[in-house]
Amino acid sequence: MASNKSLLILPGDGIGAEAMGQVRKVVDWMDNRRSVTFDVSEDLVGGAAIDRHGVPLADETMDRALEADAVLLGAVGGPKWDNLDFSIKPERGLLRLRKEMELFANLRPALCFDALVEASSLKPELVSGLDIMIVRELTGGVYFGEPRGIEDLENGERRGINTQVYTTSEIRRVAEVAFDLARKRDGRVCSVEKANVMESGLLWREEVSKLHGEGNDDIELSHMYADNCSMQLVRTPKQFDVILTDNLFGDMLSDTAAMLTGSLGMLPSASLGSVDALGRRKAMYEPVHGSAPDIAGQDKANPLATILSFAMALRYSYDHGEEADLIEQSVATLLKEGKRTGDIMAEGCELLSCSQMGDALVRKLDEASA
Ligand code: NAD
Repeated sequence: MASNKSLLILPGDGIGAEAMGQVRKVVDWMDNRRSVTFDVSEDLVGGAAIDRHGVPLADETMDRALEADAVLLGAVGGPKWDNLDFSIKPERGLLRLRKEMELFANLRPALCFDALVEASSLKPELVSGLDIMIVRELTGGVYFGEPRGIEDLENGERRGINTQVYTTSEIRRVAEVAFDLARKRDGRVCSVEKANVMESGLLWREEVSKLHGEGNDDIELSHMYADNCSMQLVRTPKQFDVILTDNLFGDMLSDTAAMLTGSLGMLPSASLGSVDALGRRKAMYEPVHGSAPDIAGQDKANPLATILSFAMALRYSYDHGEEADLIEQSVATLLKEGKRTGDIMAEGCELLSCSQMGDALVRKLDEASA
């Protein structure tokens, strides 16, 4: 049975549009061949929106994002808009989407494709088969806590203040996402904080443990201090399944985990919000990389991070895990066959442009489902 799902595509700036063009090929392929059909609409964000509307995200675009089953975003920013005031910079569009959609859980998979193990900064045996999911709390903690600011002291010194703060509900809702994810994976959650030196970390640990006891004890829960976790990630990364952590530690640990996999052009992400009365979870999917102005407009970008972000949308927003698997397996096959964009090029491999990579993937999808 065909089912229509709404998808709002926001290509943004730089290589965003080129990468999104390849996602369109995959969406069209699914429309033509499989049981998933999408109502796709497209709008502006970032510099492109500033050029058209004078703001990085128009109100109408925000409304459309709130109504869509999922939002797929390319990347924002570039030198053209670098000197604008902070309040209307391209990145503000992204922040507005995250804030108004209340996307509190950021999912960053660190998955090492076998064909790319050599690109990792770690030894191949440490990263081969690596498959970690980092769940980072995204709307609370020290980046948003009050009081904050820089103040002048009477003695002539200045003092900078930020506040790490979490409430029970903020911790529980993101921990629930982690437990749910673990249930669909290897069934293990490692919750990471600094309960030894921070009260907010102690509360985090207590609330996660409490929630674990309330119907989540099918999941194996462990706790780890953040400094140890950063060490373990580069020592024996395969020990982890799902890592659950706060905004600040998640920011750092997810970048560390990203480097284990070697390439920025391969990394997808998802940001999830609450489930509404209709059972829909607000969600935005985007590659981890930026707009790459140095290669924009040259058909050189690696579109796979954006395509893999769409695969995450299939799995988490549209409940089409099979199609997500198909895309991920086809990407793995392409890499194994030595098809590469410039950023992941290796000796003996075949160099493809962005659009050639999109075409090659569609051919793989055809083969895989023949
Ligand atoms: P970047 O991720 O855009 O690029 C870093 C390097 O990686 C560049 O050399 C680039 O060519 C390369 N690269 C990135 N993605 C690639 C891909 N898919 N294929 C091939 N090569 C790729 O980071 P940057 O240079 O620090 O930032 C450039 C602009 O992007 C800035 O305006 C920045 O603010 C913005 N940015 C946006 C986001 C976002 O939209 N989420 C994230 C990071 C940076």
